[in-house]
Amino acid sequence: MMQNELIGAGLRGPFALARDTIDEELVDQCPGAYALGFIDNMGRFAITYVGSAGEDLKSKLRAHIGTASQFKFRHFTDQQKAFEKECELFHQFMPRGNFLHPSRPQGANWTCPRCRR
Ligand SMILES: [Zn+2]
Repeated sequence: MMQNELIGAGLRGPFALARDTIDEELVDQCPGAYALGFIDNMGRFAITYVGSAGEDLKSKLRAHIGTASQFKFRHFTDQQKAFEKECELFHQFMPRGNFLHPSRPQGANWTCPRCRR
């Protein structure tokens, strides 16, 4: 329950992870962070994977269609903010689909706000 409230404050959704929903809810060519998951039998959004897109969140989510039933997301105007949000989600939820710490784009010198990696 706590998990749901925390993520509810930062991300929009959940929405069905399907082409028409993605096209309706997201804008083109905009960075962002997202969580994939499903609605559990208590009606809560359970996170299985988190990620971010430095350039185009919409196409990134389209590529995930079929891997989960629901998603939540938030757009950021700035790539670094999208990366930092992904890091926060990773540390907060430790999703089972994320084996490795989020990696920053090549050439960027940003550090994770949680662990300074
Ligand atoms: Zn970290």
